Amino acid sequence: MLDEELSTLVSLTQLDAFQCIGSSCEDTCCAGWNVQIDAPTIAKWSSSESTSHYKKHLRIVDSGNLVPQEAEIQLEKNGNCPFLDAEKLCKIQKENGHDYLSHVCRSFPRSRNSFFGMREESMSLACPEAARLILNAVEPIEIGFKEEKVTQPDVINMNLPSRDLFGEIDVANAWEFRSLIMKIIQNRSITLENRLILIGIISKNLDDELSRPQIDKSSVDKSKVFVSVYNKFKELLDSNQELSSIIPSLPDSPKTKLIFLKTLFNVVAPYSRAHQRYSQFFKNLVSGLKLDTNSTEEELISNYVSLRTQYLKNSNITLILENYIFHLFFKELFPYQSLDNETAPCLKQFLNLTLRIFLIKEHLIALSNDKDIVSSEAVSLIQSFTRVYEHSESFQKELKSLTNSNNFNSLPHLCILLQS
Ligand code: SF4
Repeated sequence: MLDEELSTLVSLTQLDAFQCIGSSCEDTCCAGWNVQIDAPTIAKWSSSESTSHYKKHLRIVDSGNLVPQEAEIQLEKNGNCPFLDAEKLCKIQKENGHDYLSHVCRSFPRSRNSFFGMREESMSLACPEAARLILNAVEPIEIGFKEEKVTQPDVINMNLPSRDLFGEIDVANAWEFRSLIMKIIQNRSITLENRLILIGIISKNLDDELSRPQIDKSSVDKSKVFVSVYNKFKELLDSNQELSSIIPSLPDSPKTKLIFLKTLFNVVAPYSRAHQRYSQFFKNLVSGLKLDTNSTEEELISNYVSLRTQYLKNSNITLILENYIFHLFFKELFPYQSLDNETAPCLKQFLNLTLRIFLIKEHLIALSNDKDIVSSEAVSLIQSFTRVYEHSESFQKELKSLTNSNNFNSLPHLCILLQS
């Protein structure tokens, strides 16, 4: 235990209202996941007869030491956690209280990052209640700062960026840069697609500037690049200049989208079976867009265009997607995630996030078969997709490798895919 001290936490203000709904939840936190049990929790369980029997449900991950460092819960054949009772409530918590849960179980669905040493909190949208809270927000989501008593060390998912890359003096600039991106995502005076395309253009600008030969690897120069790109786009947005002058107008090409969707279909299909609700959405994507039929190219395109016309009538969905994108870009510390080790890091991270957004949007188009999409359906789709995505590292890797493929690695191509 640490001495209780106050520390600043950056968080989305909506998260304050989060409450787990326990046995009323349509999923449980742990179903089908590899639930890690940390060494201090194993030690705590070992210390008493009433809890040491919990260990029979563990699979030791690192057995190279006399004292196991880490273990996973061995799930039951149906994917359920053996610690759930008949009402889907956790027996460990019921019998011994919150303190006997592993760190993962205590913190889920909350997730923490460190950005220039500042702690940030977001949520996993794999939790249905967190997904409802974030995605159904009507007012623009806000980022807030609060003081929190620290009683235990945080488990940090991402600690970015490394200090030797930027140096301490640039924290404020880095924050300003992320705020600009968040403002663009919530700029409702332009279409959501154009907001994304604008962020893509900013990412490309950053990469172009960062790769100039005269930029040395020192932190100062890199941070100057961020400041100059920030100033350029901030001025542009403040001037109320017509953004159409910088957002390219590209031809509508349903054919390009359908070809790319067939590639995506092969990647997603095996993973879609991991979650019953998502697998239904995926089947709907395939049948709605007729991806599994011998339809002619003309028939596929005409079907797609008519579904998309129906989809565009659903203004409620734009708000849900805006909230999803806002949370995603905040949670993934865009555009700082890959700066240490990638070429074209900003555009790559952008493409990686946008691929998920594209996929979700195409599922929604497929759902628009002569009907309005109910908001709860869209939320359920995003939540169940997130569950499948977050559960599988190999799924994440395969999707990421698609962003390096010829089909998806350029901004113009992405613009065509994003346009409605
Ligand atoms: S997934 Fe969310 S709402 Fe459901 S049991 Fe877990 S924390 Fe509670």
